[in-house]
This record gives sequence, structure tokens and C-alpha cells, in this order.
Amino acid sequence: LNILAIESSCDETAAAVVHNGREVLSNIISSQIDLHKLYGGVVPEIASRKHIEKINQVIEEALKEADVTLDDIDVVGVTYGPGLVGALLVGVAEAKAIAFARNLPLVGVHHIEGHISANYIEHPDLEPPFLCLVASGGHTHLVCVREYGKYEILGRTRDDAAGEAYDKVARAIGLGYPGGPKIDRISKEGNPDAVKFPKAHIEGAEYDFSFSGLKSAVLNYINGCKMKGESFDPADIAASFQKAVVEVLVENSMKAVEDYGMYKFAIAGGVASNTALRAAMKQACEEKGVKFYHPSPVYCTDNAAMIGAAAFYEYLSGTRHGWDLNAVPNLKLGER
Ligand code: ATP
Ligand code: MG
Ligand code: FE
Repeated sequence: LNILAIESSCDETAAAVVHNGREVLSNIISSQIDLHKLYGGVVPEIASRKHIEKINQVIEEALKEADVTLDDIDVVGVTYGPGLVGALLVGVAEAKAIAFARNLPLVGVHHIEGHISANYIEHPDLEPPFLCLVASGGHTHLVCVREYGKYEILGRTRDDAAGEAYDKVARAIGLGYPGGPKIDRISKEGNPDAVKFPKAHIEGAEYDFSFSGLKSAVLNYINGCKMKGESFDPADIAASFQKAVVEVLVENSMKAVEDYGMYKFAIAGGVASNTALRAAMKQACEEKGVKFYHPSPVYCTDNAAMIGAAAFYEYLSGTRHGWDLNAVPNLKLGER
């Protein structure tokens, strides 16, 4: 069963052809990063316009690279939320048009379900139940995947997402957008114990996260240095900030692994490509005898292959959307 999957929730226009949910025949991503970095972040109106310009070309390329035509496609899958409404609408309208014209079933997918499902692509042995930490630009969720398509959110961030904190700290130390990969790189030259930044643990909600206090502490530290006329080493700050983020993500995740008696643990979302987080999670899981899963970096950040993987299991469980499918910018995980 071949799925044509489309993703346009933020600033990547992406299309993929995925066979039986786990075999990626093509995965085309057109990123708008160069446009948005002029503004230090994603500008929604520019994102929508660029998606419209790119989407047909990206889909054509995905079909070509997979060496198929629309005749070989069985299902159309598309992200319909959460995300930027104008950006989502481009993918949703395109998916509806193709499905209607070709008389194909249409399956709308939750973007975070896509991020989680990215783990299925390279791990044929991974099946629910398992725990998954989703850490991306807009989400930090600790999720129990009970069955395919059945999610229980154990914890979430109370304020900033982990990726958002990376991006804001990167901007403050002058690294530019998007900050995550840059902090990852420069941290390797810094001392993670140079500055002790606070780690937030929330009383009575031990799986929840909070990153805004940490972000403010970093900003205050930098401003303090500037006021005193002292210089600071961006690599040390990046490494110290990253250490605090990674420790909290690992601690809360391992607490959940223990409490839920899970022996399979996965990470997902853009921050899951972070080298320090991967290394720390791998070690923590090994110590507990828990099997650790993570997607390759290209499947961590936004892509359509992950949407194809999620759409496959949604399709198998009977999910079908009608021609009235709409973009839902604040769609909740597990909603239909
Ligand atoms: P969401 O999925 O929550 O809607 P999004 O789609 O914008 O948000 P993703 O594409 O999953 O987010 O991930 C982008 C985020 O991941 C950005 O915040 C980016 O800084 C962060 N990121 C990417 N690579 C790394 C890295 N190596 N280390 C840390 N953060 C990273
Ligand atoms: Mg993006
Ligand atoms: Fe994403």
C-alpha cells in the first residue's frame, strides 16, 4: 500500500511516498529557512505563500524519485494540525484535490503523531507499547504510545518548548536562526560546567517541563556580563544551557520509563537530532536495560515521510477524512 504524504505545517514544504508505513520510497523537503532567517523566525504569511509556490513541484519530485505515478498511490495522507493555519491549509487543499480527483481515501494526520511515527521508518522491530519524548520547536511532550494511533500524554511543557528555548538562547548569544543545530555544534567546544543554570522540576507533576526560567537565566547572565563590561564565551554558555536542558529531558523521561515499567523508549522531533541528548538518552537507557530508539536527523525535523508512516497506521485503524477536512491549528493529539 503506497501513501502519498504531504506536510506543510510550518516552514518546510514536504512530500513523500511511503510503502506499507515503513519503507520510504522518496522524501522531498523544500525548506524555507533561508527566507525566514532574515527575520529571526518564521513569518506566517511568507510561509503560506512559499508553500503555494513549491507544493506542486515537491509532489512531482516525490513521485518521480519513488519511480511511481499517481496510478500507484492508494492513499493520500496530510498534516492537518497543529501548526500555522495558512501553511496547513496549503497542504490540506492540495491533498483534498489529489484525493478527490483520483478517487483515493484521504487521511488527515496530527503533526506530532507524525514526529512519533518517524521512529517506525528505520526500526522494523518497534511496535507499541512504548514511551516517546517529543521535543520540537513547538512541543515538549512525554507520550505513552499504547497502540498504533492511541496516545496518552504523561507530561508536557508548561511554557516554552525545548526547541523554542534553543532558538531563543541561540539568538541571545548571536548565533542566528534556527538555533538548535548551532548550539549543538558550538557546545562541543564549550565547558558544560562553566555556568550553573537552573533546572526546573515541577512539584506534583514530575513528567512536566518548564524551560522559560532557564531561558531567562541565560538571558540575565548574558545581560549581566554586558553591563559589567565582562566578556563571555558563547561556547561555554551554549554548553551549560544544553546540559541543563538535556538533564531535565533525561531525568523526567527515565522517571516515566521506571514508573510505567516500559522497556522501549523513543525520542522524536527536531531536538531529537541533538547529539548531546542522543548520547545522554542512550546511556540512561542502557543503564536501565531499556531499548532506545531514535530517528535519523532527516526524520527528526519536519518531513513528509513521518506523515506517511503515521497515515498508514491511521488508515489501517479505519481513519478516513471527508472533503470537508479543514486545517486545525491547535489540534490535540489523539483527536479526530
Ligand atoms: P512542532 O513540530 O512542535 O510543530 P516544528 O515543526 O517547528 O515544531 P521541528 O521541525 O520538529 O519543529 O524541529 C525544529 C526545532 O528543532 C527547532 O526549534 C530547532 O532549533 C530544533 N533543533 C533542530 N536540530 C537541533 C539540534 N541538533 N539540537 C537542538 N535543537 C535542534
Ligand atoms: Mg521547520
Ligand atoms: Fe515539527
